[in-house]
Amino acid sequence: MDLEQKKLLRQLPAVDEILQHQTINELFLGYSRPVILETIRDVLAGVRATILSGANIAIDTGKLINEIVYKINLAVRPNLRPVINATGVVLHTNLGRALLPASACRAVQKISAGYCNLEIDLTTGKRGSRYSAVEELLIKLTGAEAALVVNNNAAAVLLTLATIAKGKEVIVSRGQLVEIGGSFRIPEVMAQSGAKLVEVGATNKTYPQDYEKAITTETGLLLHVHTSNFCIIGFTQETTVAELAYLGKQHNLPVISDLGSGFLVDLAPFGLPPEPTVQQTVKAGADVVTFSGDKLLGGPQAGIIAGQKHYIEQIKKNPLTRAVRMDKFTVAALEATLREYLNPAKALQNVPTLRMLTESVENLHRRARELAVIIAEKIANQAEVTFIEGLSQVGGGAMPTANLPTGLVAIRPDNIAVDCLVARLRNAELPVVGRVQNNRLLLDIRTIQQEDIQPILTALLQALQFRGEGAKG
Ligand SMILES: *Cc1c(COP(=O)(O)O)cnc(C)c1O
Repeated sequence: MDLEQKKLLRQLPAVDEILQHQTINELFLGYSRPVILETIRDVLAGVRATILSGANIAIDTGKLINEIVYKINLAVRPNLRPVINATGVVLHTNLGRALLPASACRAVQKISAGYCNLEIDLTTGKRGSRYSAVEELLIKLTGAEAALVVNNNAAAVLLTLATIAKGKEVIVSRGQLVEIGGSFRIPEVMAQSGAKLVEVGATNKTYPQDYEKAITTETGLLLHVHTSNFCIIGFTQETTVAELAYLGKQHNLPVISDLGSGFLVDLAPFGLPPEPTVQQTVKAGADVVTFSGDKLLGGPQAGIIAGQKHYIEQIKKNPLTRAVRMDKFTVAALEATLREYLNPAKALQNVPTLRMLTESVENLHRRARELAVIIAEKIANQAEVTFIEGLSQVGGGAMPTANLPTGLVAIRPDNIAVDCLVARLRNAELPVVGRVQNNRLLLDIRTIQQEDIQPILTALLQALQFRGEGAKG
């Protein structure tokens, strides 16, 4: 150790000295003493090691204190955090799929903080059903006789097949043997349910006769799977739910329709591809329909099963139902979301998924132009910022062919690679996730809310001015 190192070590403030500082004192309001002390010691040990390594540094107590505060915040930061979705993918499964309506958020907060009537009938004082809060609403909105809700749609399909077709044959078109992602495949779910898959038709064409020829005494049900995440075009023929229902009636077999991202409002008038609504599918004669709560419905993760009362009653009694039941937060959020649909015009505004999918091109372009100007004002000396037109996606395995015209802010940084900018934005205090195309970062205005703009500016400024302090990228 040389003289200079000794001098620097002597300049290093003691723990007690640091504890005297106002900023550190304020930390005691939010953090425990051991956490604060440990962090102070860690930071001091780090500086001591740097001095002993022979690095030429200056001791700056202000900087030390900033580092301590930064490290404490980092240590207590939750693992699951909010992220800004600038990808334009409205139902981004990796970013949590649907945003809940404000009414649903309020309901979750209220219900989670106290006791509630989850399974008690307040009129009689007797035990009630956790489905009753949503069942009436689902009946009203879908036109089905009865309904129940489970953890997600994968569970809904599993449970329905396991209840109605266990040990029996289920006839399904080869064109509908869908993989949803994350290894959810119709044939495998069916195997788990104890039903036996009977494939009929060809990948591109399946006729009612194909189903009819496969019907035996072992047949348990006819399954229709909505091919929500891919599209077969060209020389194609699909048997409709109505045709299957006709066949089912003739042979006394139930028809189940897995709608995937079933929705309650027809979005075709807003330029989205026409798809059958839940109401239409029930009307077409499906005995049971299943769909997700957090796809186009725009609610919490859930699997909704709606259909004829005697099937729904059977499903409710299946012991497996208990294993995939929904919790009270989901009941609260789903009830509030469904209530929005009682007024469809209001739902288009209040359900964020619907609002984002139906925002007009003019509005999107205007908002994107405005954002481009705001961003350019801050970073024009470090990046090229332009407004461009483009397309966004529905996501969540829904409407794969939908091309939604949108407005984008394209950013090409001058001094760092675009991948580096992307990585830094991902590691921002409030992470920002966009898309990369032709060496530019694209921010799609469709999924960017007004309150996201300030954090996006902060993250961009920090990412571009970044000088290495601790973080990499
Ligand atoms: C998405 C989807 C599922 C799975 O739904 P989750 O709610 O994600 O479990 C099942 N079937 C189809 C056709 C789907 O599109």
